[in-house]
Amino acid sequence: MWGYYDPNGKRIVLDAGISGLRAVEVVIHELTHALYHLKSVNPRWGEEKTVTAFGLGWAHLLRDNPKLLLWIIAHILKTNKTEVLT
Ligand SMILES: [Zn+2]
Repeated sequence: MWGYYDPNGKRIVLDAGISGLRAVEVVIHELTHALYHLKSVNPRWGEEKTVTAFGLGWAHLLRDNPKLLLWIIAHILKTNKTEVLT
C-alpha cells in the first residue's frame, strides 16, 4: 500500500518513498476514493451516472486545486517513459 484516503480527516496520506508515475497513480487513486465518498457514489448507479459523478468531481477538484495539475506534470516529466505500472 502506497497511500490511503482518510474519509474522517478528509486527507490523503502517501508513502514518502514513492515518486514519478507511481506517485501520480497513487494520488489519482486516493483522490478518486475521496470523490467516491464526497460525491456519495452508489455502486448501484451504473456506469454512466458513476462516470458522470467522477467527471464532475474531477473537474471541480482541478478547478479548485490547479496546482495539482502542475504537481502531476512535474512528476510525469520526471518519469521514465518506458515505465509500466501494474
Ligand atoms: Zn484503493
